[in-house]
Amino acid sequence: MIKCVYEDGVVWEDMHPKIEFAKKIFSDVFEEYGVDFVITSARDGKHMVGSKHYEGAAFDTRTKNIVSDFNGVKKFDRFKGQMIFDEIKRRLGNGYDFLDKRLNKNGTWRDIQYWHVEWDPK
Ligand SMILES: [Zn+2]
Repeated sequence: MIKCVYEDGVVWEDMHPKIEFAKKIFSDVFEEYGVDFVITSARDGKHMVGSKHYEGAAFDTRTKNIVSDFNGVKKFDRFKGQMIFDEIKRRLGNGYDFLDKRLNKNGTWRDIQYWHVEWDPK
């Protein structure tokens, strides 16, 4: 069973079968790590011209809820985040672009951090 939460305004309709498959993988791995799987964008939202989002071949996932308890304070756990990311990437296999949008190009943290996946066979 796929367990996922859609943020308000997310339009998940007529999505590419490979994206439905990716959603199942995300759901499985997030569940294994005890983290809620939250989709923040699919066909909705504003994306670059030509974005796979408009074709139903991409979605974005929240990452700020990947937290652990650090001396009584719940904080983003980048090690757990990396493990989840790597495991999803491994299970997706070829044909997907899976991008960690947590860092800017200069290595600083973005205000809004998320993962983007799209079906884009080369
Ligand atoms: Zn995206």
